[in-house]
Order: sequence, then structure tokens, then C-alpha cells
Amino acid sequence: SNVPAITLNNGSVMPQLGFGVWQVPDDEAARAVGTALEAGYRSIDTAAVYENERGTGQGIAASGVPREDLFVTTKLWNSEQGHDSALRAFDASLERLGLDYVDLYLIHWPMPDTGKYVETWKAFEKIHAEGRAKAVGVSNFHPPHLQRLLDETGTVPALNQIELHPHLQQSGPRAFHADHGIATEAWSPLGQGKELLQEPELKALAEKHGKTSAQVVLRWHLQVGNVVIPKSVTPARIRENIDVFDFELDAGDLDTVAGLDSGTRLGPDPDSMHFTG
Ligand code: NAD
Repeated sequence: SNVPAITLNNGSVMPQLGFGVWQVPDDEAARAVGTALEAGYRSIDTAAVYENERGTGQGIAASGVPREDLFVTTKLWNSEQGHDSALRAFDASLERLGLDYVDLYLIHWPMPDTGKYVETWKAFEKIHAEGRAKAVGVSNFHPPHLQRLLDETGTVPALNQIELHPHLQQSGPRAFHADHGIATEAWSPLGQGKELLQEPELKALAEKHGKTSAQVVLRWHLQVGNVVIPKSVTPARIRENIDVFDFELDAGDLDTVAGLDSGTRLGPDPDSMHFTG
């Protein structure tokens, strides 16, 4: 496919656009992942807490796409933070996925109140050294959490996966990431398909380019340098979301999208996220 690749700070090459499977039931994940792989996606984003690693792995196995052509990400759930529990949780994720390595393993949330993410990261360094995760990174880390890893451990996260869309453009964290060689990955890149896609400015850009609002938003992410992982279970939308390589936003269009930043979160603030269930 024509999805561009980015090179992470450990040398791993990652497709800039992938497929997210949050809220896809385990028994639908194989079909959705199969549709995505047929449409040309090569990167899949799951997590232990999504409870669909098994279906995701089945979709991968059934696709016939060679393992080395795929980029598979999963995440450690909050309740499993800690050195030994992270090692055990990683083994269980690999087993459910039916894989002998993942391309990227992420700490799902920093959970700063529990104070375990540094210890957890040391387990991630071990998993990385063993080659069982080709790259390791984090999710939902604010710059002070990242700074603590930089100060107290020897491995810079390859990537930070954060909530990011035109209503929450995250310019401070993006600048911090760029300064430290950490890639920025956008979760809920389409704003979960809600109010964002109804913005009149996005509808006008969609009209101008003969594309949809969703495609305009994905194109914006790619042009500003974000990795994106849009989710859909609808085959036509799965295909639509990867059909973004035949047009380009111009400088004025990018300014228009920049103007939509309202700082509005759809998910929790990582500093006040206490959910472990
Ligand atoms: P998203 O922004 O990708 O939006 C998905 C929703 O938008 C779909 O359910 C559908 O309702 C709608 N949609 C999709 N394509 C569309 C189209 N072409 N036109 C119109 N509507 C469309 O939201 P998301 O699923 O929250 O985020 C994407 C992925 O990010 C997840 O699947 C998951 O892998 C990851 N994620 C990670 C975290 C984290 O804490 N690390 C949190 C949330 C999501």
C-alpha cells in the first residue's frame, strides 16, 4: 500500500496510518482486522483491556500477510503495572495474540498516583532487550511523566500514544516529543466520529477536495506528522479511512484545521485517571 512509514528512535519502521480496535468485541475482531488487512492496513493497535487480542490474532493469522510485513501494538493494563506483573501480563498478551513478538508494547496509562511506571518501564526494557517487543513506548504520558523516565531510566520511549484530534491538538506535548525523539501517535484521531466531523470548516474542506470530513482530519494528522489509528467496524469506512493518499491540504487548509483547537478532551486526563478495573 502507499501508507508512508516513520522510523522510530530504536530504528523500527512503523506505518504512519494503522487500524485501532478499541470497543471491537473479540468475536468481531478477526473479521474487522481481516477487512483492514485486505484494504491495505499493515499496523494494528490493540490492548489487553480491549479483550480482543485473541480475535485480533486470529484475524492476523487468517489473513496470510507475512508477519514481518505487519506492525502489531498492544498495551499493558493499569492493574498489571509493576516489574514482575508486567512481565507476566506481556506473556499473556503474546499468548492471546498467538505471536512470538509484538512490534510495539505500550504502558497504557501512567497512573502517577500508584507510582509504578518507572519500575514497569524497567520490565519493558527487559522485554525489549529480549526482542519480544521490537519497540517499547507509552500512552497517555504527560511531559513530566516522560521526563521522569528520561531522568531515571536508560531507554527513551519510542512513541507516546495520546488523545489527539483537531479539537485537542496537544501542541505542548508534541513539541516535547519532537525535542526528545519520541513519535506522537494520535488516539481517537477522528474525535470518535462525534461532533468533530460535523464542524462546518471540515465539511467545507471535504467539499473542496472531494473527500469526507474524516479523510480531511486523517490527512491533517499525516501532514503534521502524527501517527494515526482510526477505528471502524464498517467495511466501507475502514476502506475510506486509508484512502487519504490522493489529495493534499494546502497551507491555508492546515491553518483552518489549526483554528479548531479548543482543548476539549473526550477521555480522562491522565493525571486523574485512577481506573484499574
Ligand atoms: P476514532 O477517533 O478512531 O473514531 C472511531 C469512530 O468514529 C467509529 O467508531 C465510528 O463511529 C466513527 N468513524 C470511523 N470512521 C468514520 C468515517 N470514515 N466517517 C464517519 N465516522 C467514522 O476513535 P477511537 O476508536 O476512540 O480511537 C482509535 C483507536 O485509538 C482505538 O481503536 C484504539 O486503538 C486507540 N485508543 C487508545 C486509547 C489509549 O488510551 N491509548 C484510548 C482510546 C483509543
